[in-house]
Amino acid sequence: MRILLTNDDGIFAEGLQTLAQEIKKIAETYIAAPDHEQSATGHAITMHRPLRAEKVKYRHSPELAAWSVNGTPADCVKLAVEALLPQKPDLVISGINRGANLGTDVLYSGTVSAAIEGVILGIPAIAVSLAEYHNPQYDYAAAFIAYLAPIFAKQAKKEMLLNVNVPGCPAEQIKGVSINRLGVRHYKNPFEERTDPRGRTYYWLAGEIVDIKEEKDTDVAAIKEDKISITPIQYDLTDYAMLESVRKWRIDLQGGG
Ligand code: MN
Repeated sequence: MRILLTNDDGIFAEGLQTLAQEIKKIAETYIAAPDHEQSATGHAITMHRPLRAEKVKYRHSPELAAWSVNGTPADCVKLAVEALLPQKPDLVISGINRGANLGTDVLYSGTVSAAIEGVILGIPAIAVSLAEYHNPQYDYAAAFIAYLAPIFAKQAKKEMLLNVNVPGCPAEQIKGVSINRLGVRHYKNPFEERTDPRGRTYYWLAGEIVDIKEEKDTDVAAIKEDKISITPIQYDLTDYAMLESVRKWRIDLQGGG
């Protein structure tokens, strides 16, 4: 099995390095990741300047082919698959992200977008995040993904994508694995208003998470219960339930009849 690893926290982020050490035990492993942190860049790609891919060596795994790319997470996957790798990978794994990617936050996530890029290119993908920002311990999450990857690769069709979140608690306190839909995430006081040295107002995105809907069977709820959450997701945003009713609106060429 051939696996491409990427992330949005940067090529030397601890989460990616820990994951690489586990994945290299089970697969031919390649890495292409941004040269600096690109969190919350969503699915952006670079069109107006050249991309460069510098070969880098991980100290603990100098044998791994790894590239540092001056682009976004989606750029990294696209470039790796189309230009850098000798052959198409069987699986793309993005992470381990520092911090959760739950509910509506997956739409902003560079980690998830890199995985989506894999699926767009016809490669099944896993996005993996650790729900702990301040004191992340990636070992258990990395081992879990090394266990999950072959199971997924066996079952997966090429358009399949799993969004995995691992709770930040110690491994022995994890309560189980739960397969869920995405929940909803809201933030309270999202912007801090401050004054710059010239007396002008500026705003800084911050805010506290408030999970308004305490719904069961969501990824948000699973992480609160210290369970690993797995959500199969897709990038087709079509609202299939709406298709028929919008057709009934009889929208035609303007002035036509
Ligand atoms: Mn990140």
